[in-house]
Amino acid sequence: MPQESMVVFGAHSDDFVIGAGATIAKYSQEGVHVTSIVFSYGEKSHPWLQEAVIKKMRAHEALEASTILGCKTYIYNLKELHFMEEYTEKYVDDAIHKLLMKIKPTKIFTHSPEDPHPDHKAAYNLTMDIIKKLSWKPEVYIYSIWNPVSFKTDYPSLYIDVSKTFSLKLKALKTFRSQRFHAIYPLLILVFKRALVCGIKIRKIFAERFYKIQ
Ligand SMILES: [Zn+2]
Repeated sequence: MPQESMVVFGAHSDDFVIGAGATIAKYSQEGVHVTSIVFSYGEKSHPWLQEAVIKKMRAHEALEASTILGCKTYIYNLKELHFMEEYTEKYVDDAIHKLLMKIKPTKIFTHSPEDPHPDHKAAYNLTMDIIKKLSWKPEVYIYSIWNPVSFKTDYPSLYIDVSKTFSLKLKALKTFRSQRFHAIYPLLILVFKRALVCGIKIRKIFAERFYKIQ
């Protein structure tokens, strides 16, 4: 059996933590090789800092969060709201394909196609495009960020018991200091509530929920 390995795609530098952070930590502790792929630094979403400063901060934060969770992270330089054009223009498609050929992921996690954020939707589309070109068929799961997921289709759900690693997710989220004042604190409450509600579903303290789409 080949060693299990997992890749989590995210549009912005904090999405992999919000969407699957505790699961990443859990798998990593179990010896699974975990990689996160970030399409964009998310340089636009800060009201008053310069783009270059933001990029540096975001990269630093994402790497710090990755160390806490136990994954390796690659950040690409797609401009927010321009993923589709820049994806081939900047050869990000080739770079990620090469990376996946090396890692050979057995499980892939990405955004939901029903996520209202245009970058999250684009990240989903790009992920599916990348997966189509692989010579093997990994399992594919989707996660949600802000929206309580209410899928029209009935994909099977996957609840992961993250009672032991949920605190690492919170710790990792707190590394995103550049976003603290306008996004991270309300988000922590939401993330906490969602993990509790998902936990109840499987009679554990905390859980993360995904939908298997492939
Ligand atoms: Zn995002």
